[in-house]
Amino acid sequence: MVTLRSVTSESAYVAQRLREAHLHHGIAWSRMAVIVRSLQRHQAALRRALAQSGVPVTTGAEDTALATQPAVVPLLVLLRCALDESTLDEETAVSLLHSALGGADPLSERRLRQGLREAAARLGDQRPSGELMVEALTEPSMLALIDPRWARPARAIADLMTVARQTALRRGATAEDVLWAVWRTSGLADKWAAASARGGRRGATADRDLDAVLVLFDAAARFTDRLPGARIETFLDHLLDQQLPADTLAAAGTRGEAVRMLTAHAAKGLEWDFVVVTGVQEGAWPDLRLRGSVLGSERLVDVAAGRDTTADGHVTAQVAALLDEERRLFYVAATRARRRLLVTAVDPSTTGTGGEEQPSRFLGELAGTRLSPVDLDDASDATDESDVDTEVEGGTESGVRPAVLGRPLTLPSLVAELRTAVTDPTTPVSRREAAAAQLARLAAAGVAGADPDEWWGLRELSDDRGLVEPGQPVRVSPSTVESAMRCGLRWLLERHGGSDPPSAKQGIGNLVHAAAMLVDEAAAGHAVDPAALRAYVTDRFDQIELPARWLGGRERERATKMVDKLLSWLGANPREQLAIERDFETLLPATAETPPVRLRGRVDRLERDQAGRLVVVDLKTGASAPSADDAVELPQLAAYQVAVEAGAFGEGSVSGGAEIVAVGTNHANAAVRVQPPLRDAEDPGWAEALVREAAAAMAASTFRAVVNESCPYCTVRRSCPLSGKGRQVTG
Ligand code: SF4
Repeated sequence: MVTLRSVTSESAYVAQRLREAHLHHGIAWSRMAVIVRSLQRHQAALRRALAQSGVPVTTGAEDTALATQPAVVPLLVLLRCALDESTLDEETAVSLLHSALGGADPLSERRLRQGLREAAARLGDQRPSGELMVEALTEPSMLALIDPRWARPARAIADLMTVARQTALRRGATAEDVLWAVWRTSGLADKWAAASARGGRRGATADRDLDAVLVLFDAAARFTDRLPGARIETFLDHLLDQQLPADTLAAAGTRGEAVRMLTAHAAKGLEWDFVVVTGVQEGAWPDLRLRGSVLGSERLVDVAAGRDTTADGHVTAQVAALLDEERRLFYVAATRARRRLLVTAVDPSTTGTGGEEQPSRFLGELAGTRLSPVDLDDASDATDESDVDTEVEGGTESGVRPAVLGRPLTLPSLVAELRTAVTDPTTPVSRREAAAAQLARLAAAGVAGADPDEWWGLRELSDDRGLVEPGQPVRVSPSTVESAMRCGLRWLLERHGGSDPPSAKQGIGNLVHAAAMLVDEAAAGHAVDPAALRAYVTDRFDQIELPARWLGGRERERATKMVDKLLSWLGANPREQLAIERDFETLLPATAETPPVRLRGRVDRLERDQAGRLVVVDLKTGASAPSADDAVELPQLAAYQVAVEAGAFGEGSVSGGAEIVAVGTNHANAAVRVQPPLRDAEDPGWAEALVREAAAAMAASTFRAVVNESCPYCTVRRSCPLSGKGRQVTG
């Protein structure tokens, strides 16, 4: 038994142990299984991790509860939303659009959102796209106003919901009738039948999906026979309550060489040489939520037995019975192994990182039992206790050891290790030669990245010219001086499309900046009404796409507070306002060492102090502000001052310093950070030298990756050779 610090580590560890069993111990994939309490909870992450590590995995329709099968979920969700529109929210709408019923992809969803927003804005409707999308599925008239290509998935879902609603309203309509009407209109039967006929992986998936839908119809027919006249909603509740795997109409047949992933319920009566029981967390296994059935037969049994079903003790007894049942289920899972058993859970406390996850009490119980082959029900093939992988190592009290992930047992990681050995001059020669010989073998077998011809980092530069032609001005904006100086590679990649798309936080910042523009009108003689400024922000807030709805209230309040802080800072600011959001551009001529620099950008506020000097103010809406000490040499402020001194603004060319006014922090008032005037510095030319150095770095022909404190948040770290996230480029 092992514990890992996160779900991701757990999945990677399971994949590694399966590969180890296959590669080192020769166990066929089909003689291994991964058992979980709930496929719904674990399937996606585990499948991804196993696929990434090259572990073939299969899940049969008969292993999954009917209501959780991929082909059935969207049908049930659609029926539920059609019959009760209050259950249709943005998340559900997105899941329906991306399902086989809608057929949308991320691009078409984005285009749909944009189209709906534009169409609504033309009608004076400023609601966010999520709300418009939900409305379009129940009232699709708005879809006529957008490009049919992007409206198609939403129209398909809207039509199916209409069909479901109309059929359900017919007198005597049963769950089977409604399902059939939706299924026939969807056209999926022909599509999946054609995919099935073509065979291959897609054909197998289509077979599984068709099988699941047939079982769904069968379940609907049986439900109708049992409860004629029952509401369709009751049928949906009935299916969702089912934890047991569904019946299947088709024989499982041969699954090929793949590790089977299934639930403990589905594993009853089966055996494999190596079994991994994973995701054994408290709260998930045992799952002690009290469950009932449609007909409440369990209560009937209690009443018939003369038990008081209203007493507190009754609930305790129910929980105790559930715990026993869960323990039996865990025992079933743990005893499916003929030779090896591995049990894993997540325990963030082992790394001191905290977190709410806790390993299940069953792990401790299993360690306490010192499970032996004799204990393994039906595990008579095991001949030696050491074969059973209930490792009690590390001397922890519970007998469960924290696991450490080694190198993934995959070809790319082997190639990487061999390449490191070959190219590292500190590696002993004999080891380097052995690594080179292995690489040659792999290269001859066509393994990607093994042939030195594919080691792009060793190649000569194909073009050693700089980014800017000699003598041409280098364009520099104040906001990029710092990033270019900090890490050349990040600056280069972000400059050429590697940066993240604008976030919701930036949207809120832009809104506050726009509100600040209204203050300009006040300076022009109009009175600023603080309430009107706040209303300006709140009225436009809904246009910002937030990652989650629940963030809306908090972020709206934050935006309003920013406006309040801005207003109170303005009230106390003694300087004269000259301009807001002013663009500037100036040329610093070439020197003997540096190229000419075209310095250009935009200042949030340009002000004049009492001595007649110009002061640039930069408004920041982020949650943090630089320290007062850092601000003294902040490159962005320095570049603004250089621009002033170079005559970028007609109002003067003497800098009175620059300031950051941070309104997004947790402080009650705006945090003001000051950079003193350049002329007061010991070396007044330091800022220009910095700008010229940054320009030279931007015009270079090579760009260095330099590790710095912002690496953990770097947007291009996947392309960075130093981050450990970079990947071999094989194309
Ligand atoms: Fe530069 Fe760090 Fe990003 Fe690599 S991860 S590109 S070193 S900032």
